[in-house]
Amino acid sequence: MSLQSERLLNHMQRLRLSHLPNCYEAIAEEASAKDLPYLDFLEQALEAESQAKHTRNVRLKTQWAHFPYNKGLDQFDFDFQPSVDERKLRELAGLAFLERKENVLLLGPPGVGKTHLAIALGTEAIVAGNTVYFVTVQDLVQQFQRARDENKLKERMTLLVKPKLLILDEMGYLALDPFAATCLFRLVSERYEKGSIIVTSNKSYGDWGTIFADNVIASAILDRLLHHSTTINIKGESYRLKDKKKAGVIAAKTPNREGA
Ligand code: ADP
Ligand code: MG
Repeated sequence: MSLQSERLLNHMQRLRLSHLPNCYEAIAEEASAKDLPYLDFLEQALEAESQAKHTRNVRLKTQWAHFPYNKGLDQFDFDFQPSVDERKLRELAGLAFLERKENVLLLGPPGVGKTHLAIALGTEAIVAGNTVYFVTVQDLVQQFQRARDENKLKERMTLLVKPKLLILDEMGYLALDPFAATCLFRLVSERYEKGSIIVTSNKSYGDWGTIFADNVIASAILDRLLHHSTTINIKGESYRLKDKKKAGVIAAKTPNREGA
């Protein structure tokens, strides 16, 4: 290795440029072969580094988000689900709601794409540089219970308030006891006007009282969630049953009976 290469690598290490060491020689060779201006070379080198950093960031943030699967808006078949307004979803994907700390509620029966759309919006948020945390209400309640047993409820709450976007999946599949309902109320209150929440639920607002076994806490939570929010009501058929119907496994008129 030449002395200059050694010095260059040293600089890159000190500046924490992790990708450039692998590619600066190739970029320099190409620039020289094409007789590129110095500024073009500099631009290409910096672009390679910043692109690699961005890709790494997206990968790490996606891991941290704990999505159950990875799907984007482009994989959503809007023709299959006409009750979902594509324009509204594209607007949400522009993330102004996140900047305004507003919430998004995705409501509808099982299989209609609530979780898919929540993940798609979460992915857009990550690509734009935000932190996201996805959790089902069932897992969240377990986290609260464990934290209570370990006397770390406050720390758990602080962690859940931190991400720029919190996705609470499957509200309503599970009835919540008073402890879980109180924790959820605290979480929603602490994020209120500070950080967005996306909630998916199979229950319409009128039925939320049955989730919490307490209408007062249900309306207190709804009040905060809905104050600055967009609701997407999906009224359609389960996408999961689509192929089964096509194959004739289930009669076309079978109502949705599957779990989420
Ligand atoms: P739920 O409303 O129960 O949360 P999901 O979002 O998990 O349903 O959707 C179930 C499965 O069907 C997922 O694999 C999802 O990607 C797929 N899916 C649902 N709706 C659509 C759609 N309109 N276009 C493409 N895939 C869809
Ligand atoms: Mg779901």
